[in-house]
Amino acid sequence: MNHRAQAAGSDTGRRVVVEAREVSKRYARNWALKAVDLRVEGGELVSLLGPNGSGKSTLLRVLTGVTRPTYGSVELFGAPPKTSNGKRQHLGVLPPQSYLYGELTALENLNFAAVMYGLKSHDDELVEALAHVGLEQAADRQVRTFSSGMRKRLALARATLHDPELVLLDEPYGALDVEGIGWVDAFVGELREAGKTLVIATHEIGRALALCDRAVSLRGGRVVYDGPTSSYEGAVSGATDSVRMEAKR
Ligand code: ADP
Ligand code: MG
Repeated sequence: MNHRAQAAGSDTGRRVVVEAREVSKRYARNWALKAVDLRVEGGELVSLLGPNGSGKSTLLRVLTGVTRPTYGSVELFGAPPKTSNGKRQHLGVLPPQSYLYGELTALENLNFAAVMYGLKSHDDELVEALAHVGLEQAADRQVRTFSSGMRKRLALARATLHDPELVLLDEPYGALDVEGIGWVDAFVGELREAGKTLVIATHEIGRALALCDRAVSLRGGRVVYDGPTSSYEGAVSGATDSVRMEAKR
């Protein structure tokens, strides 16, 4: 390990990939985030939990640089987040709604993303990326004809097309059936095997606890838990009823 890595990392010497310090975000009179600290090291798989409206999506948007924090600072890989796609080579994002182009085919959607990322991908590479998510047969179909599971697969293919180090997934299980959920789990497992750093925002507590080592839980924009998933349920069971209810769902 070189000295730079040591200086940038924690006592484990791993690279700090995400560093959010005292991040607060206000929308009109509503604080969506309140003094959130989050540090994620290379290769970690972190679930971001909390009920609807607790600030998960806002935190992910602040991390990607789409939204600026009202107070506080964010660094990805030791630098402020870039706002242009072409400069976000280390970052892959799955937004909660897929934001795919319904009138374009699956292949055209990936091609568009490749251009945005400044990749010089040939069609056969893009078809390979589609095959990887089980959409090879649907490459030339318009995305508006896709089921929600197919859209999610395509959105995941797009989010990881440029082989990013850090992948932020916002509600990857949203609107999926059991088969779709299993598929997302397997995809996340592959990213983990590949050593990627992942932050997964979800209100599906059971899925997150099964998949991730670490849970960060938000309530009303504040971090109320940050620790191993193994102690999550115990830690929140002494809290308010609503927290207890959610942990048991
Ligand atoms: P979650 O993803 O956990 O459901 P969000 O981050 O979407 O939570 O929302 C957190 C809070 O911020 C909510 O009160 C929500 O209404 C508010 N909020 C989120 N985005 C906006 C926005 N663009 N404009 C105004 N308020 C917003
Ligand atoms: Mg959300």
